[in-house]
Amino acid sequence: MAEGSRIAVIGAGIVGTSCAYFLLRDGHRVTLVDPREPGTGTSFGNAGVISRGSVAPVLTPGLLRSVPALLADRTSPLAIRWRYLPRLLPWLVRLALNARPARVETLARAIAALTERCDEAHDVVIQECGLGGLVRSGGWLKVARTKQTLLAATATDRSFWDRFGRRYEILDGAGVHALEPALAPDLEAGLLLPENRFVVDPCAYVQGIARGFLERGGALLGAEAQGFAFQDSRIVAVGTTAGRLPVDAVVLAAGAFSKKLAALGGLRIPLDAERGYHAMLPHPSATLRRPVYSCDHGFVLAPMANGIRITGGVELASPWAPPDDRRIRRLVPLAQKLLPGLSGAIVSTWQGCRPTVPDSLPVIGPCPGTPNLFLAFGHQHIGLTLGPLTGRLIAELVAGRTPPFDLSPYAPARFARA
Ligand SMILES: Cc1cc2nc3c(=O)[nH]c(=O)nc-3n(C[C@H](O)[C@H](O)[C@H](O)COP(=O)(O)OP(=O)(O)OC[C@H]3O[C@@H](n4cnc5c(N)ncnc54)[C@H](O)[C@@H]3O)c2cc1C
Repeated sequence: MAEGSRIAVIGAGIVGTSCAYFLLRDGHRVTLVDPREPGTGTSFGNAGVISRGSVAPVLTPGLLRSVPALLADRTSPLAIRWRYLPRLLPWLVRLALNARPARVETLARAIAALTERCDEAHDVVIQECGLGGLVRSGGWLKVARTKQTLLAATATDRSFWDRFGRRYEILDGAGVHALEPALAPDLEAGLLLPENRFVVDPCAYVQGIARGFLERGGALLGAEAQGFAFQDSRIVAVGTTAGRLPVDAVVLAAGAFSKKLAALGGLRIPLDAERGYHAMLPHPSATLRRPVYSCDHGFVLAPMANGIRITGGVELASPWAPPDDRRIRRLVPLAQKLLPGLSGAIVSTWQGCRPTVPDSLPVIGPCPGTPNLFLAFGHQHIGLTLGPLTGRLIAELVAGRTPPFDLSPYAPARFARA
């Protein structure tokens, strides 16, 4: 695509906003299309971890074995709305098939190839958009009441980290409290991933990239994309609730809501939502310095600019189903035990949809049969981590440059034509 092309990016989450930014940087005329303000979808409410340490796919053999026990426990990190099961079953079967050991190894290698490159792309937007004030280093910490629990909970990840070169340190109780003095005194073990960074306001981070995009001449269209107009096999316009937008190319980055538009572009993608929740609580007087994951209960306490954010768990349900925040509320007393100064006064709760395909790999690349439609979604639990890198890769593909590494594992061509 020649410089100066008209490109519509559909979806202003961390992924779409990053794509728009890097495309604009390449000299294209870019319109970011979303009925909502940038960063107010799933990218609003995540735990803020820029997770170079993420390597494992969504489902591993050990996790698969523990699914029945997790579903039976009301405070466990996994819930399902059974009415949605018939619709979800084909996705679940494919997810389970991807949890075979040999397959997990292949998928982990492909995820590692992305996460090991995530920081450089973040640094571009941090520097160019002036976002340094929102990002902290200091790693992220997993803690447990016993060393046995810590080692069991991190065994799969540690085997990946050893093989894919991610640094980690195992700590005793004193080591945990030296890093996080406010945590409960009875914690006996911890594991620090020192290379991870975190964002203290993920929505402000996306809005900062959007601001950089607008200041450099990008356009924002507050509308929903509804369809495409084709000439031969190419898209010539996007149909939106605000009218027809003529284009030379389109990037589809609508997160968990990308499936219908991808099908209009000619590809049937098994995309579904791993829904997640957070609850916000005021900071205690002695607070956390970095995100902390409880291996005992499977939740994260993330120190955000405006309070402590409890996140954790996956709810399998339709992306359009109304939120049910009872499970995240049940975690508050457990969070208070982990961080004793924490008040139980919930300020707000929130629900979002992690966009996940059964092989855990994001969908990045041109849509077969529609060469000027580029797909950029399916970033599951690591969309904040991979958003800027995805933007950079999409810009390479749109320009026809050779990408810096093999992108075939993420190619949309791995799915069937609609
Ligand atoms: C509880 C929780 C914790 C998480 N923690 C982390 C973490 O610590 N680190 C990490 O890396 N990731 C984390 N994630 C995952 C991460 O938040 C997601 O992967 C990421 O936000 C997905 O970004 P996105 O841009 O693809 O989607 P979204 O942020 O959902 O953006 C999609 C946008 O598309 C728009 N849209 C939809 N349909 C249309 C349409 N037809 N026309 C125009 N626009 C449309 C929506 O309005 C929305 O703004 C977490 C997720 C959850 C739920």
